[in-house]
Amino acid sequence: MGELDGRTALVTGGSRGIGRAVAQRLAADGALVAVHYGGNEAAAAETVELIAKAGGRAFAVRARFGESGALDQLFEGLAAGLAEHGEHGEVGGDGGAGLDILVNNAGIHLAGSIGQLTEEEFDRLMAINVRTPIFVIQRAIPLLRDGGRIVNVASAAARIGSPVQIGYTVSKTALVALAAPLANELGRRGITVNTVNPGVILTDMTSQWTGVPEAMAGLESITALGRIGQPEDVADVVGFLAGPQGRWVTGQTIDASGGTYLGPIPPA
Ligand code: NAP
Repeated sequence: MGELDGRTALVTGGSRGIGRAVAQRLAADGALVAVHYGGNEAAAAETVELIAKAGGRAFAVRARFGESGALDQLFEGLAAGLAEHGEHGEVGGDGGAGLDILVNNAGIHLAGSIGQLTEEEFDRLMAINVRTPIFVIQRAIPLLRDGGRIVNVASAAARIGSPVQIGYTVSKTALVALAAPLANELGRRGITVNTVNPGVILTDMTSQWTGVPEAMAGLESITALGRIGQPEDVADVVGFLAGPQGRWVTGQTIDASGGTYLGPIPPA
């Protein structure tokens, strides 16, 4: 018996990187997982296949965030996938299919200082990293069963004042701000809302820097645990918050960065 047997989960950006690891973790715990993707159908299919090979249950749902109609597409795909997997009935309806876990993980990164940022780039960062999760949550609330979980994946950038990713930092800081008010609104239904802030994790998003040995050495040197993170390092934190053991944590931001940039090591 898995801790999440009989539960359903939606992981946005579940096709690759951190989202794939989260989808695999939740499926390994027993959840039926909707693996959302934006365009990389092959990657989403691979995530679903990896989950199936491990004995789990998952299906893929496409929706290109930032484009009109994306949320309709997401929730129609979710309802169809749940029905196909035996979660019959109107999603969220009495006795019908429902959602237990929502992980807002899909996001984009953009490097650039204040002098380099354009208004168009900023609008796109906010549209995908902030506006989309807000309205995904709005649409998901009527579907969420009591005792449900919402986990937003922001970034340790919200803590570290790096001047070279200012638009991204602002977008992720705005995302962090969602958890506390939503936790207050949904807490009486036993629904928790939390944020996980990864540090640098080895995914496609970071491959430009993590392929450079000097950059890796620099990142390792400012990380207490002395290495760069893997997607599973974050997925296990999300899995804890999404599972029964996370029931007493809500409205919080959990740093999952291996202790990146905690400050200088004091001399011995
Ligand atoms: P990634 O490897 O680049 O994967 C991004 C995921 O988001 C993919 O599943 C992608 O779908 C989806 N996505 C991107 N743009 C989309 C759009 N417009 N519409 C729909 N889906 C879209 O990213 P990652 O490194 O795993 O990062 C996942 C989350 O963690 C992001 O929110 C990121 O900001 C955050 N984070 C990452 C790091 C890090 O070091 N990697 C650190 C801190 C925070 P497709 O596969 O279809 O393209």
